Parts: sequence; structure tokens; C-alpha cells
Amino acid sequence: MLTPPCEHTHTILIAKDEQGEHLECLDCGEIFDVAERGPASPGFNETLSDA
Ligand SMILES: [Zn+2]
Repeated sequence: MLTPPCEHTHTILIAKDEQGEHLECLDCGEIFDVAERGPASPGFNETLSDA
């Protein structure tokens, strides 16, 4: 039984510098740049939607 790859749907901004913003995935703990996550979308609002 394979574990599906983490889709990093829950991320927090942990650092920001001239190279970009760095996110940490709350699910798997991986850290990556916003630029690595795909096309530059100005609004990555992955907040909890508890509307
Ligand atoms: Zn993840």
C-alpha cells in the first residue's frame, strides 16, 4: 500500500528574502520556495476554510 505524495495543501510562510518566500508544509514538514510550487500566483490563500 503506497502512501500518496504530499500535496502540501497546508503551508505556512516561514521566511522571506530577496529570493522569494519560503513555505513549510504543515503536513509533511517539507520546506520549499513559493516559486517551486508552480506559477506565480499572487494569492496563495491556503488558509483553513471554516466558513
Ligand atoms: Zn507536504
